[in-house]
Amino acid sequence: MYTMIREIYEPDIGEKIINSWVRYLDDCWIIWYEEYGTIDLFQRILENLHDSIKFTKEISNEELSFLDVRIFKEGNKLETDIFHKETDSRCYVPYNSAHPKHILHNIPFTLASRIHRIVSKPGDRYPKLEELKKILIHLKYPIKVIENAFQRASNPPITLDPPDNTEIVPFISTYNKNNPNIYENIILPACNSLKLISPFQNCKFRRTYKQPRSLLRILNKNNKNTIKGITKCMEARCTCCDTMIMGTTLKLKSNTGFQHFDIRYNLDCLSHNVIYILICNGCDNFYIGQTGGMFRNRLTLHRQHIAQPRYAILNVSRHIASCANNLRKKFLASPIIQLSPHLNKNDRELKEKKIIDMLNPRLNA
Ligand SMILES: [Zn+2]
Ligand SMILES: [Zn+2]
Repeated sequence: MYTMIREIYEPDIGEKIINSWVRYLDDCWIIWYEEYGTIDLFQRILENLHDSIKFTKEISNEELSFLDVRIFKEGNKLETDIFHKETDSRCYVPYNSAHPKHILHNIPFTLASRIHRIVSKPGDRYPKLEELKKILIHLKYPIKVIENAFQRASNPPITLDPPDNTEIVPFISTYNKNNPNIYENIILPACNSLKLISPFQNCKFRRTYKQPRSLLRILNKNNKNTIKGITKCMEARCTCCDTMIMGTTLKLKSNTGFQHFDIRYNLDCLSHNVIYILICNGCDNFYIGQTGGMFRNRLTLHRQHIAQPRYAILNVSRHIASCANNLRKKFLASPIIQLSPHLNKNDRELKEKKIIDMLNPRLNA
């Protein structure tokens, strides 16, 4: 976008436009002066950025909102005020909610700070703060907590040191109560001697703790990686969905009764590079195979061989043809292990052999 602006506008105008363009995610804002020319040209630049980007514009000589800020003209100045969307119900966390106290205490402070930060005319702040106070009291915030927070918010924010050109290099570790001084005793002296070497001369080293794995995080992570196991592809007229064994656990016949086999992948009729299972519905015995192609295509081959056992290459097809002869659904089948696409036939056969040794299927014999 900047390149296009620079190509189309005079250099000084182009730079002015670039400098006054602000964006937060998909909300953009610009103060457009007459000297920039017509805004339609600028809008055409925006619209030509990408086919999937559509811009709508809102233009006003009086006031406009950007995010939660209402910006309006007063005399020759621009003033700002808080902008509440019509859908904003001013629903804040009530004080009796089961949140840690420090979070609840921070809410009045954050809301009041926002008023101080955004409302540019000091005279307009007081009614806003009074309104906020009423809402918070209604939400059971103790008056002391509110007043304390408002007091803190009214103090000018602490200004940070102006940035210098020292680079901060963090040393990240998890807190270890058995060795709390590792940073001071070992890392920091080592870092300081690093400063003798040129790239580190202007560096400041700082220790930073990484949050340890909390129960919440572990649970969240597991939720994200939920494995659905085997599913049907649900495509119309799929020849494979009908015989699919679904789920995350298979119950397989073994010499001693039944054994369970856990599925650790998401698999369906369209999966490629898989180890699969074929269960005879006549006797519940099964066969393990592998394919580098699509599972559904492989199953079509089995189905043809079972229907015309004279041409069958594998014993399993002949077995199912006779054993499940009088059944409409003669077998069940599913991919059970997803293999990496990088494996060649040899690798796949090795994996297949491993599984065969483990599960000991009768029909591979
Ligand atoms: Zn399917
Ligand atoms: Zn059988």
